[in-house]
Amino acid sequence: MGTVLRAEVTAPDRAAALGAIQAAFDSVSAVDRVLSTWRDDSDIARLNHAAPGDTVALSPALGRLLDEASRWSRRTDGAFDPAVGSLVDAWDLRGRGRLPVPEALAAARRTAGLGQFWFGRDDRSAFRRSAGAWLDTGGFGKGVALRAAVAALRSAGITAGAINFGGQVAVLGGGPDGSGWPVPVADPARRSVPAALLRVRDASVSTSGQSERFVVIGKHRFGHILDPRTGRPAPAWGSVTVVADDPAVADILSTALFVLGPDAGLTWAERQGDVAALFLIRGADGLELRATRALRALLVTVPSTDSGG
Ligand code: AMP
Ligand code: MG
Repeated sequence: MGTVLRAEVTAPDRAAALGAIQAAFDSVSAVDRVLSTWRDDSDIARLNHAAPGDTVALSPALGRLLDEASRWSRRTDGAFDPAVGSLVDAWDLRGRGRLPVPEALAAARRTAGLGQFWFGRDDRSAFRRSAGAWLDTGGFGKGVALRAAVAALRSAGITAGAINFGGQVAVLGGGPDGSGWPVPVADPARRSVPAALLRVRDASVSTSGQSERFVVIGKHRFGHILDPRTGRPAPAWGSVTVVADDPAVADILSTALFVLGPDAGLTWAERQGDVAALFLIRGADGLELRATRALRALLVTVPSTDSGG
């Protein structure tokens, strides 16, 4: 997936620790073979590259994951939708960036969205309806891989450890002193500066924002998170961090809440009841923090609410 995975575990001896970490890496490689859109031989690539209307057999793993992603897409009213591939192309977000002409944007919007895909019974087969449509797994693949890595560590008997996969963190146990693993949340404008500190146990922390990955077109920066409702990159309002037991859910929801934005996103998250989300909103007078009730229980320090700018 073109990123770095770091793992630290507590084990009875070095051999046990290395074996567990190797198993975690192997499980991430297995997810990569299912979900990567950066290689031509993955399960998802076979669907994404198939001729429109040609039914493709899905591996059980891919079928389950696409079903899971589709459910979250419906639950977030389409804010999360991996079928943004045609929009990624229109804006050339994997290249140097391009402002699409209105006709190109309209065409890309017509071929975006999960409605462009047909899924067979039990999600064992699928086809795409048009040549421009493809599924971009960037919004949930890391979380799925982390979930597999955590499961691999647990199968190897590990109950204490931490994994960082390209910025998304998953922890096992309650941290070195039992009070929860400290996980800093970066200021979205100055990523080396922590804006808040969380303490989490047996959970994953995922942050979505537009400041890490973007293209520059003219004088404007466009982030890589697309709003499927407009077909445009979502505005760079700040960042949202989600803490969830399941790393895939943390990943999916941070992307979805970023698209929904700090107002509708906070409302949506509170309505779910148990979604732990922290919104860092960049404004003229610095950084505004908004947290759901579930998140506030994990928030240990807020250095200063006007530390941004
Ligand atoms: P994340 O960094 O987890 O928020 O995911 C962002 C990535 O997800 C982008 O680089 C795209 O690959 C993909 N993506 C962009 N917009 C969406 C969206 N609205 N729903 C799902 N995936 C998206
Ligand atoms: Mg995500």
